[in-house]
Amino acid sequence: MSVPQGRRAVLAGMLALIGAGPAAAAAPIPAAPWPGAVVLRGRDSVVVAHRAAAGLLEDLAARAERARRRIAGIWGPVRPVVLLPETDAEAAVLAGASGPGATAGMAALATADRVVVLPSGYARLSEVGRDVVITHELVHVATGATRGGRVPTWLSEGFADYVGYAGTGLDTRTVAAELAAEVRAGVLPEGLPGPADFAPGAPRLAQAYEEAWLACRYVAERFGERALVRLYGGDAETVLGLTAAELTAGWRDYLRRVLA
Ligand SMILES: [Zn+2]
Repeated sequence: MSVPQGRRAVLAGMLALIGAGPAAAAAPIPAAPWPGAVVLRGRDSVVVAHRAAAGLLEDLAARAERARRRIAGIWGPVRPVVLLPETDAEAAVLAGASGPGATAGMAALATADRVVVLPSGYARLSEVGRDVVITHELVHVATGATRGGRVPTWLSEGFADYVGYAGTGLDTRTVAAELAAEVRAGVLPEGLPGPADFAPGAPRLAQAYEEAWLACRYVAERFGERALVRLYGGDAETVLGLTAAELTAGWRDYLRRVLA
């Protein structure tokens, strides 16, 4: 019980998007943000670390490359820039967060053009959890996340998880354990989660991510993955031929089907 719940709590808490404002967009990619930083430049990626343990830089570079390939196969090209600070406080500063409290419980986050790893949260993740998180955050970089609020939060977060979990082979009811428990108890969410449902400390934060992930899976399974990609920046009526109410109803049926 404690293993999947603990893993999900860390996953859910870390998947928020912070600091993707205009300031972050304008910031240059730091070649060496700290004195003595180690920079690993691959053909398609850059990983910068501050006093990282031996092997961690190479490990992160390999994950960034796997994430890049997974994203290229579904969405399109992205060039990963991943920063691994020495402390969570450094990470919060690099991410432009308001303070370490704003990033509590997270393992990585995305700015407009890079992924910043939070060392303590990242260290608590499983191997597959690390891949999911790096991929999730890199998807935000590739897609422009909510594009200033023009893309619904459920679609931005759900699509990042859709790509993040693609090919991991993880069981749906395990990944969406919290939501599955509610559905099995006969409680279905009324509507797709909104921005407030993804706020740090929201009471059903884990469920919000699970709802968003399964909304994207529903679209991909019923209409095809290309339709899901087109929905990003489009609208359900034009892309899927569904009203918002029909999309919600189809998604709720899908939740009952895959989680009950
Ligand atoms: Zn996210």
